[in-house]
Amino acid sequence: MPANSEIPVLDKGYVRLVDSMGSDLSVVRAARVSHDAAWRAGEDTGSDKRLIKYLWKNRHTSPFEHVTFTFEVKAPIFIFRQWHRHRTWSFNEVSARYKELDMGFFVPDPVNIGVQALSNKQGRQGIGDIHERNLQVQDLKDVYASIEQVYKYLLDCGWPRELARTVLPVGSYSAMFATVDLLNLFKFIELRADPHAQYEIQEYARALLKLVTPIVPVCTEVFLETNNPNPKDSIPSSTS
Ligand SMILES: Cc1cc2nc3c(=O)[nH]c(=O)nc-3n(C[C@H](O)[C@H](O)[C@H](O)COP(=O)(O)OP(=O)(O)OC[C@H]3O[C@@H](n4cnc5c(N)ncnc54)[C@H](O)[C@@H]3O)c2cc1C
Repeated sequence: MPANSEIPVLDKGYVRLVDSMGSDLSVVRAARVSHDAAWRAGEDTGSDKRLIKYLWKNRHTSPFEHVTFTFEVKAPIFIFRQWHRHRTWSFNEVSARYKELDMGFFVPDPVNIGVQALSNKQGRQGIGDIHERNLQVQDLKDVYASIEQVYKYLLDCGWPRELARTVLPVGSYSAMFATVDLLNLFKFIELRADPHAQYEIQEYARALLKLVTPIVPVCTEVFLETNNPNPKDSIPSSTS
């Protein structure tokens, strides 16, 4: 997938690959430095794949840090709250002090709402009463419309942006640039594409995996063989 590829996520979000450095070969080269082997400009061979598999299985993980990616992400603020816990990423986010936040609000698909999980205090389960959920989603949209009005009213009254934003909910969309190396991207995907993670961030994790697979096909294959981030749609589960 070339740079600037974009995958839509949730109702208004997306992830876009802005930039990347390296490939499967970068991992192989970094590992071979250990035993002073010559650099190669060539493409993947069977031995490269075996080496990548060996490295990953034996947790010789530092060679995977020689590949990096920069993504542009548009997501609700509650997703950013979870994402920003991952300290190995570098972030730059839109500032609601500099500009009016006008990227819309997250509206869940009624079929993905479910009910509070009984066994997992953080999660959710089932699909709930769809007719009721449709009505409640309309209520949510109405609340968002009122919030937007108050936000604009405060701005019109001369409130500074940094204070007018107080009224905005965690369902507001925001945008950021996020840079990470391949090792820590895999760690992120392992945690956040897992069914214990919140369904909405699972969607972002799966989209990231799709974006990087064509750049590091062998590493991705090896990662998926040994880790099971459940890349298919899964039952909504958890938070934070
Ligand atoms: C399902 C789920 C539920 C969660 N629930 C909550 C919750 O209720 N409340 C809450 O506060 N958080 C919660 N979290 C966040 C979680 O505790 C971690 O902060 C988050 O997943 C980031 O993981 P990480 O530290 O491995 O990632 P990163 O910060 O990206 O770190 C990656 C790896 O780098 C190493 N590393 C990074 N920093 C350090 C350091 N300072 N010292 C040593 N090693 C380091 C570790 O090996 C780490 O695994 C939840 C996460 C998940 C996935």
